[in-house]
Amino acid sequence: MTWQPIIKSAHDWKVPPNLRDYEATRREFSWAQARLALEGLPSGRGLNIAHEAVDRHAAGPRAARVALRCIAQDGGRQEITYAQLAEQSNRFANVLRQLGVGKGERVFALTGRIPELYVAALGTLKHRCVFSPLFSAFGPEPIRTRLALGECRVLVATEPLYQRKVAGLREALPSLEHVLLVRGRGQAGDLPGTRNLGELLQEASSHYTIEPTDPEDFALLHFTSGTTGTPKGAIHVHEAVVAHHATGRLALDLHDEDVFWCTADPGWVTGTSYGIIAPLVCGVTSIVDESDFDAERWYRLLQDERVTVWYTAPTAIRMLMKAGAETARPHDLRSLRFLASVGEPLNPEAVVWGRAALGLPFHDNWWQTETGGIMIANYAAMDIRPGSMGKPLPGIEAAIVQQQADGSVTEVTEPDVQGELALKPGWPSMFRGYWGAPERYRACFANGWYLTGDLARRDADGYFWFVGRKDDVIKTSGHLIGPFEVESVLMEHPAVAEAGAIGKPDPVAMEVVKAFVSLRAGYQPSDHLRRQILAHARTRLGAVAAPKEIEFLPSLPKNRAGKIMRRLLRARELGLPEGDTSTLEASDH
Ligand code: ATP
Ligand code: MG
Repeated sequence: MTWQPIIKSAHDWKVPPNLRDYEATRREFSWAQARLALEGLPSGRGLNIAHEAVDRHAAGPRAARVALRCIAQDGGRQEITYAQLAEQSNRFANVLRQLGVGKGERVFALTGRIPELYVAALGTLKHRCVFSPLFSAFGPEPIRTRLALGECRVLVATEPLYQRKVAGLREALPSLEHVLLVRGRGQAGDLPGTRNLGELLQEASSHYTIEPTDPEDFALLHFTSGTTGTPKGAIHVHEAVVAHHATGRLALDLHDEDVFWCTADPGWVTGTSYGIIAPLVCGVTSIVDESDFDAERWYRLLQDERVTVWYTAPTAIRMLMKAGAETARPHDLRSLRFLASVGEPLNPEAVVWGRAALGLPFHDNWWQTETGGIMIANYAAMDIRPGSMGKPLPGIEAAIVQQQADGSVTEVTEPDVQGELALKPGWPSMFRGYWGAPERYRACFANGWYLTGDLARRDADGYFWFVGRKDDVIKTSGHLIGPFEVESVLMEHPAVAEAGAIGKPDPVAMEVVKAFVSLRAGYQPSDHLRRQILAHARTRLGAVAAPKEIEFLPSLPKNRAGKIMRRLLRARELGLPEGDTSTLEASDH
């Protein structure tokens, strides 16, 4: 997909990018060197994420800098400096100590994006427990399975979330010993089996010395999005902070004075790696918005908070596109310096739309819960080929591999050949296992490669292009078609807001492409429109890859991370069981 013109990035520089010369940086880069940019615990006692994220700054010139600016649902703002965050997280670590919670035990959070979540995350890491944030919109069942799988010992929750989603499950969760509640105004009296977090924090000491932390000590347990099946719990270690810092600087181009907004919830890995850790380690100010997506509110936030670096997701960008560029126009977005996107393929239309509506293009980057940090990115200094994920980070070896009949894999060296995207293990934020599923972990590796489950190709200049998930790829008349390519072409049509393509069994072609489409405001489904969209797709894609069928839907089924669930479109089309739907958006149940 190269029909969108290349975007020359140099036009957009407002300050010189951290990564100026990609090839030279790649040659010179080593993770050992990257680690030297961090401090380590005093007296060589190891490496702890929370020390690098807050204590290091709290003890230096950045102590009074705002670390988090939290915007509440009612618009109220609370600023927390690095010094305050260090102190608050010390208190939380002391609470865990007083409760007798030991190293490596799991502390979960179910709070939404409120200051206590960040305090709990950092305090948990200080106390060398494993932190696992849950997405607050999950229903009781996905919450129960995660708490049970992770053998949660401590849960931090808001009172309403606890009452609605966990209180009735306590008997089914024997490992859950301590529930620490964040209480809103007017909520009085202790619920049975819970403690008041606010009171515990107030009583706890504000001094805490982090015990020696081995960089390989477990730090985070993150569940995947459940797009392809049952969510898996990926384990990350303290060493990951080296990658969070390096990628924050190199891929998100964070500079000291930045105001950064990562829109992801910490319940997804992006919201922890880049909504908590990376910006703090880089010492910038982060915006934390308690509310969910709203185009008008988001533009106002970007304007009023003078956000400079913005990290969001294709699903949000598509919603902004749906709302129309006019919604952006009244706002002054000149503070913005760098826009990035992750989580799903970013259609070329969306990259270019950013330029037109916000004044800057979106920089797509690719990674997974398992990789813990950004692996492939469009850098600030790099020309963008819309539709491409960019190039591997310095320190990351990525390849296209193909599986042989005996299960081994071989690397494809020629350009433009489709295969599975594979990474050479060894970067610091690589997952160390799937919690409770060692065979599933082992199955991810072959011939010294980590196999990502995504299909991609690399062009002659080293840019990687996402094709689709291995499970989503469509086999038609002897060709392999990636749904992303079909969907991106459909998105070019002015009536199309979202598209999802699947393979539908066909006696002749094996599969044919079927597309599901939702329309932008102002368009109505009709046979005429269907024919128009089909004709557009045929012209752009040719007869083989073009959809044979288009079905209009009011919206596409997405999981709570906002990702289109093609496996569900397929199951529904074929009348098959829907499989694990624990992360499905409520409206689609
Ligand atoms: P599960 O593994 O449970 O099916 P998931 O893979 O969606 O869920 P995540 O780890 O949150 O869970 O998502 C990583 C996946 O998201 C990648 O493997 C890829 O398929 C997709 N993805 C992420 N970023 C991009 C991107 N920039 N372009 C294309 N796809 C992306
Ligand atoms: Mg996955």
